Amino acid sequence: MDGKIGLEEHFAIAETLEDSKGFVGDSVWPELESRLLDIQEKRLRLMDAHGMELMLLSLNAPAVQGIPDPKRAAEIARRANDFLAREVAKRPTRFQGLAALAMQDPDEATRELRRCVKELGFRGALVNGFSQIRDPDSMVYLDDARYRGFWAELEKLDVPFYLHPRNPLPSAAQIYEGHPWLLGPTWAFGQETAVHALRLMASGLFDAHPRIQIILGHMGEGLPYSIWRVDNRNAWTQQPPRYPAKRKLGEYFRENFYVTTSGNFRTQTLIDAILELGADRIMFSTDWPFENIDHAALWFDAAAIAEADRAKIGRGNAVRLFKL
Ligand code: MN
Repeated sequence: MDGKIGLEEHFAIAETLEDSKGFVGDSVWPELESRLLDIQEKRLRLMDAHGMELMLLSLNAPAVQGIPDPKRAAEIARRANDFLAREVAKRPTRFQGLAALAMQDPDEATRELRRCVKELGFRGALVNGFSQIRDPDSMVYLDDARYRGFWAELEKLDVPFYLHPRNPLPSAAQIYEGHPWLLGPTWAFGQETAVHALRLMASGLFDAHPRIQIILGHMGEGLPYSIWRVDNRNAWTQQPPRYPAKRKLGEYFRENFYVTTSGNFRTQTLIDAILELGADRIMFSTDWPFENIDHAALWFDAAAIAEADRAKIGRGNAVRLFKL
């Protein structure tokens, strides 16, 4: 299919490059490094070769979220956003931007989001899970009360928020001890991000701000497969859930969340997501440069789904959501 749009597509700046190094072996790093630093050359050639018209670009992970000093985090976010704005300006029909935000300082993050949307023309924000704030061993999640003003502004600006994975800190990763292969995209990313999303749903955020739209990658980090059980629990006990939100979590999932195909090129999984969320809430993405554009595109173009759904997922939903 031509005209595909991808929205979990990453780059790095010199200051954040090293954050991606641990995810691949030494022999592969030179290739990943060159992919992360390139925007206008190899990336564009691959997009052309595989029917990808547009990428919404975002910084690598954990990057800004992993910088405990709030001032430094804000500085790196601004630097990355300014760099991205210059790259987008070179080819605005092929690239658009998602803001990096220093959630270490909620007021600063709110100001930077406004600047990115109003002045730089960015289409939304992408944040890599929890933030370390001052104490490198802290993990502050986005359902924290300190973010109320941020979420109000996001709703007002009417732009989507991509909740992107990061690994749990070693102090919170006991379950993975002795099994480092489970970290990263294999399992820990999905686990971490799914729980974060459930925290947001249960917090009452979407009762206060019903227009907020959160995007999850990797076909929803396992949630389409599990959300029914989250709400069902032990139905025979008939006990109301003990969380602040007013409704079943699946209702927020279907009304306040989108998922993308990034790094999860599996038709069975896509069909499950379609059955849970509907084809209007799924969007194509590759997760370049950690995944290959050809792997994503060749799978998606041939996946056994309705052509009308392919058109929505490959392009139409992103055009509508991001007002492209
Ligand atoms: Mn990614």
